Amino acid sequence: DLPQNPLDLKVQHVSFQYTATQKEVLKDITINISQGEKIAILGRSGSGKSTLANLLRGDLQPTKGSILLGDAVVSTLDDTVADYIGVIQQVPYLFNTTVINNVRLGNENATEKEVWDVLERVNLKKMIAALPNGLETMVDEAGLRFSGGERHRLALARILLQNTPIVILDEPTVGLDPITEQALINTFMQELKNKTIIWITHHLKGIDNVDRVIFIENGILEMEGSPTYL
Ligand code: ATP
Ligand code: MG
Repeated sequence: DLPQNPLDLKVQHVSFQYTATQKEVLKDITINISQGEKIAILGRSGSGKSTLANLLRGDLQPTKGSILLGDAVVSTLDDTVADYIGVIQQVPYLFNTTVINNVRLGNENATEKEVWDVLERVNLKKMIAALPNGLETMVDEAGLRFSGGERHRLALARILLQNTPIVILDEPTVGLDPITEQALINTFMQELKNKTIIWITHHLKGIDNVDRVIFIENGILEMEGSPTYL
């Protein structure tokens, strides 16, 4: 069954281990995320943040517990989950095809005008327009033509076109200088302001943009509260 409104996400006593012999990477995590809420998931490297993101998207199945989107169990939604939850990966993946195909990914019917519109919203319009073949310029998989920040903007353009009600940002500004980082956080928050945002980060920069912060350490939900308490 497809999920019904509201599209709240309910993580219920979820534990996860990658293999039966490995220790649990996440332990008894319970989080309720209301539709439209902005959440930061904060934690050190290796604490289990990306694993949680992959569970939310149904790319991994909980070893224990369950995850609901509205009233549907995420793991039963298969490909449909992509209609509801978009993700900007820690290392945004670009494909060895044209710029326009990279932006249209998951939304192949989008018109050129729609593609230019989202590129403008993420501040890439000028840069793409100046490329030798514009939207038809080839991108290699390593995205060598694009800087880290530009790759994240391209990934955001893709998400804006997909227009999913929930967006997961997995450290979308890692490796950027502070000014570029701040500008990119502002773009993300502005462009996604009507959506549920789950923003994974390992530091406090920009954290005042969210409603709630969830702090994970060694796979355990250690603390939860408003960003002003941190
Ligand atoms: P970072 O901030 O560095 O991205 P993270 O909080 O996202 O870290 P995860 O990627 O979720 O951390 O990893 C949590 C733990 O799970 C780590 O100990 C990691 O080594 C382990 N792990 C991650 N992916 C796999 C995998 N595919 N197979 C086995 N173990 C994994
Ligand atoms: Mg990670």
